[in-house]
This record gives sequence, C-alpha cells and structure tokens, in this order.
Amino acid sequence: MNEFALIRRYFARDCATPSVLLGVGDDCAILKPAPDEVLLVSTDLLVAGRHFPLNTAPEDIGHKALAVNLSDLAAMGAQPRGVTLGLALPEADPDWLAGFAEGFHRLAAEFGVCLIGGDTVASPQLTLAVTVLGGAQPDRVLRRDAARPGDLIAVTGTLGDAGLGLRTVLSPDSVPAELPLADRDYLRGRLDRPTPRLAEGQVLAGFAHAAIDVSDGLAQDLGHILAASGVGAEIDLAALPLSAAARRWLALDPSVETLPLTAGDDYELLFTLAPEDRDRLDFPATVIGSIRAEPGLVVRNRAGQAVDLARGGFDHFAVGPD
Ligand SMILES: [Mg+2]
Repeated sequence: MNEFALIRRYFARDCATPSVLLGVGDDCAILKPAPDEVLLVSTDLLVAGRHFPLNTAPEDIGHKALAVNLSDLAAMGAQPRGVTLGLALPEADPDWLAGFAEGFHRLAAEFGVCLIGGDTVASPQLTLAVTVLGGAQPDRVLRRDAARPGDLIAVTGTLGDAGLGLRTVLSPDSVPAELPLADRDYLRGRLDRPTPRLAEGQVLAGFAHAAIDVSDGLAQDLGHILAASGVGAEIDLAALPLSAAARRWLALDPSVETLPLTAGDDYELLFTLAPEDRDRLDFPATVIGSIRAEPGLVVRNRAGQAVDLARGGFDHFAVGPD
C-alpha cells in the first residue's frame, strides 16, 4: 500500500464542521476561524515505549495521541477547530492502522473535530506528532500567568490514576496482590484513554484565573502556574481527589501516598479561581489548596506537616517549614 492509498483508506474521512472549508486531500487544508476568534496551536510528539507502553492497543494509541492535544486546548479554554497527524511507522500493518484510526476518529467525532491533514513516513520507531488548532474569544483564554494570591486551587476528576496504571505495566510486582483486577483495568484505562476536559475548560474560561492540564504531575504543573504568575501555593495532600481504585491501592500500600502529587498523564485540569466563584463550578471539581503571595509550593500532610517534595525529584520547589 502506498502512502496515498494508506491516507485515503484510514485517515481521509468526511467531516463537516463550519470551521473547515477543505480537509485532507489538497496541498493545504483551509480553515475559517469564527469572527473575532484568536487561533491557538499546540503540538505533542509521542514516541512508542516512552510516552505509552509498547503493549498499548492501537485503538488506545490513536485515542491518546489526540486526547493529550485536545487537553492542551481545554486547559486554555479553547474549542478544537482542526487537527493534523504526522505518523512515523515501522510497517503499514493493516490491523494496526485500522485500530489506530478507529481510536483517533472516534475521539475526534466525540468532540466534533476533523483531521485536516498530515503525513506518513516509514521509520524504525513508531512516533506520532499531533498538532491541534483551536479557537477562542481573546478575552476568554485561560493562561498560566494569571493566578492571584487568595485564589483557590482546584482540579477536575481524580489524580494519580494514570501513574498507578503505569505501575501495573512497568512494575507489576509492586501492585498489591489483593488489589481487584477491575481496579487494575480501571487504572490502566485511565493511562491509555485520558478524557480531555474540553467542556470544563469552556466553563472555566468565563471566570477562572490560571489553568493548565496535568500532564507531568500535579506538583510540576502547579509549579508552572506559580512561576508564570509570580506567586506561591499551599496544598493539602489529604484533599487530593482519588478514584475508588486509587484509594483501595493506597489502603493496601501507603507508600504510594504522594504518587498523586508527582505522577503525570492524568490530563485533568488544574486551575485557580476567586473564592466567590466556587459556586460557578457546575462539574465535579475539588479544591485542594490556595494561592499565596510568598513564592514556593508547600504541601501539607494529614498532620499538617510540610511534605518534602525534594524526595520526589522536585527539588526546584521551595519547601515550607514543618
Ligand atoms: Mg499542557
């Protein structure tokens, strides 16, 4: 199968949205932004074995490649307008391609975004480059540099699931033997099929101050907001929202207590808002702390003591006094 046949067969799909005048098939796609809209652009590279386990199902790779990019648009309160895909493949395996395209297109359809172009190439290592284009009204874009002292810090969904899911793959011996199989499957699913929080980002665009998606871990991603905004924060370890599966794992193995602080890949939204806007959150979200003027990130454990984040490898954060 040549490159053009491959694209026609797996990737060129009819897709109608008002913002796409011409999709796959010409030298360029043609997009028409809505009136007064600014364009937001983000690219992510995913390398097999580095950004997803080698045994990941092709459907899940297709899903995740798009989901992590849509998550970046969600974090800025934008709506997806189009997406391109660069695919470097060791071989044109029809089963793999069909599965990958299915996972990719299913998520694209769910969020009303069209694949508008891309490229494929033969390469020894499976690598994916996805670029999303998003639209937003300029005064509604959420940025990292807008947190203010006194803001509440909140997060959508639950934290640590993807990190625990990765443990089930990388170090299965460290999984508590008593942990139900259904929990392992749930956590692996959270790693392989993250949900981009686009609807939540749209709501937040109306009133939240700063926002980011949790891709590298709560502590690190909150650190980006703090650095960009020139502020500090205090968060409460016991307040971190955990899934039932993660809670069961923690009960069996307390050594993973701080993993939800440092593990990445959850793709939840982390944001700050004025306390008086808390009632405007019309989706599941959990307040985990607050922004303060003093720089540095302090994490308090159940006993109110500061947790030493340096041990988690994040020694660039100031750690508050015990
Ligand atoms: Mg991001």
